[in-house]
Formats: sequence, C-alpha cells, structure tokens
Amino acid sequence: MQVPQTAPRSCALSVVIPVYNEEAGLDALVERVTAAARAIFNERYEFILVNDGSKDASWAKICQHAERDPRIVAINLARNHGHQLALTAGLHHVRGELVFVLDADLQDPPELLGPMLARLREGHDVVYGQRVKRHGETAFKRGTAALFYRMLGKLVDTHIPPDAGDFRLMTRRVVEQLNAMPERYRFIRGLVSFIGFSQVPFPYERDARLAGETNYPLRKMVALAIDAVTSFSVVPLRFASHLGMLFGLAGLVSLAGIVWVWMQGGTVQGWASLAALILIMGSVQLLVLGVFGEYLGRMYMEGKHRPLFIIAEVRRHPAAANAENTGAERDQNGEAIRVAG
Ligand code: UDP
Ligand code: MG
Repeated sequence: MQVPQTAPRSCALSVVIPVYNEEAGLDALVERVTAAARAIFNERYEFILVNDGSKDASWAKICQHAERDPRIVAINLARNHGHQLALTAGLHHVRGELVFVLDADLQDPPELLGPMLARLREGHDVVYGQRVKRHGETAFKRGTAALFYRMLGKLVDTHIPPDAGDFRLMTRRVVEQLNAMPERYRFIRGLVSFIGFSQVPFPYERDARLAGETNYPLRKMVALAIDAVTSFSVVPLRFASHLGMLFGLAGLVSLAGIVWVWMQGGTVQGWASLAALILIMGSVQLLVLGVFGEYLGRMYMEGKHRPLFIIAEVRRHPAAANAENTGAERDQNGEAIRVAG
C-alpha cells in the first residue's frame, strides 16, 4: 500500500479538519480553532485543512487563509473521497505530538481543546468526545444514530464507544498506528478503539451546524454503518447458518403437522401459503447472498491496493516548511507538490 509517510514531528499540536462544501462557515472555523490552539500552544501548532473535492469556494477560502497564516496547511484532494478518507489524508500529514480532530461545521466546539488536553495529560492516549446532547439535529438522525451504536455494540468484539464521533484528541503514537492500517473501508473511530492504549470519553453537548447542511444523508449513514459492521465483525456471515437452522426447524414442524393431518384422513389445503413460503425463502436466500457479496466485494476492492486518496496539491507556508522539505514535497504518486510562497 503506497501511502505517504507521516511527516516528521515538529510541533506540539496538529489540528486536522476535513472540509466538504463548508464555504459559509470556514472563516468562523479558522478563527475559533486558531484562538483555541493559540491560547494553549502559542505558535507551536499547525492547522491542517483537507478540502475533499468541495463544489463550492471552500478551497479558495482555505488557500486565502493558508497564505495569511503560516500555521495553516492546505491539502486539496483530487476529488471527493468521503469524510473518512479525507480525514485519513489529513492524518498522514500531521507533524504534531498531539492530534486534534474535529468537523468543519463547528458542531464540535474547538474551545474544548483545553479541557480535553487536561484529561489527556492525566495519562491517556485518546480523549474522545461523547455526545450527551445533540442540538439542531432531527429526531430521525438522533434515533438512527442511537440505534446504529446499539446494534454495533451487539455485533462487534472491539468495544466501540456509543455516541462518539471522530471528535477527539490523540497522541502521536495512536495516529502512527492508525496511519499504518492500509484498509480502504475506514471507520476511523472503530480503528482507534481497536488500537487500544488508554482511551477515555469526554462528554460534551454537540452544537448545531454553524452553516450549510449535513453532508451525511441517509444513504451515506447507511454506507458508514455497513463499513463499520463489515470492518469489525463477521457475525453477519453466520446469519446464513442461523437462518438455515431456523427455517429447517420450521419446515420439520410443519411436515410433522402435515403427516398428522394425513393420519387423520385429511389433506392440508393452501397453495397461497405455499407460494408465500417460496417467496419468503427466496428473499432470505438472496439476502444472505447479499451479505456474502458485501464482504466479498470489500475483499475484492481491498485486493486492488489502490491508494486511499489522491492529493492534487499541498500548500504549506515556506516559513513553516521543515528543513527536509526544501523545494517541493512529493505526494504518494511521486508528483511534486506545490509549496506556497
Ligand atoms: N465531509 C467530508 N467529505 C464528505 C462529507 C463530509 O470531508 O464527503 C466533512 C464535512 O465537511 C465535515 C465532516 O466531514 O467537516 C462531517 O460532515 P457533516 O457535518 O456533514 O456530518 P454530520 O455532522 O451531519 O454527521
Ligand atoms: Mg456535522
């Protein structure tokens, strides 16, 4: 798997934020994150903004900020890769001893950096935000999210904490482990749980989106849920044998019933029920095949070893560029990356 190596460490904190169509809230985001990071780390932080193929002016805005502030690293992906891969691209470029991940829409308050850092310094490697309240999200979204985390808890051996998103503060060693995992179908919060070390929750109230609208419609939420389950559990593959046993048992019981009626001198009527049974059996078989297909398809895609993300451009201010980054950095395809100046 050809992925860029994590850049050498050279600052105390890296803030990583994936951005997709967040033009309206970007100025407020940069302002609040900068204030929060500066208050604690002074100049010793970097702020990585990954543009995930936005269709609006997000990239232009990110570039404006990067030109003004040497601590801002602007990464432009070649197209939309999705939240988890955009975040992965950002995590591959961190230089900080600590890594702070949050969403671009300010649903996760950057000001919590201080309290989360205090918790981390008690001797933990991951402090993850756990949503105790979600403002401005529909009852449907809250309900499906709750259902998803409960279901995941039942299916998966790794303990994936409920109601935790990707909002978290991590040490460098956790991010290095994460970057060493080559898998394509990434459910990052699950992968972080899988890594281990000491991880503690940080309860917080999730704010409403500052501007724009959610980029996670039901379709993407379902895709993320399937990624989560298939990446961490093979239990669904066992459904086939469980369902087979269940239907076999039901068949035996009904057979006994038919024999009993026959011994009484009667016959069982009911072509309609037979047709219904055939349809149910057919759909169960297709469903099971679909589950197998889901795993098989993922194996096929993983087997291709394509890069996880394609980077079009990285803009790092020369004042902040590291000694060994003189000239141009190289991206994973060996293409020269433009260094802003
Ligand atoms: N995002 C991204 N690529 C996508 C979709 C979303 O980088 O294809 C980013 C988005 O800009 C935000 C984060 O992922 O920073 C979470 O997305 P969103 O706020 O829409 O999700 P929600 O909070 O509604 O679950
Ligand atoms: Mg959001």
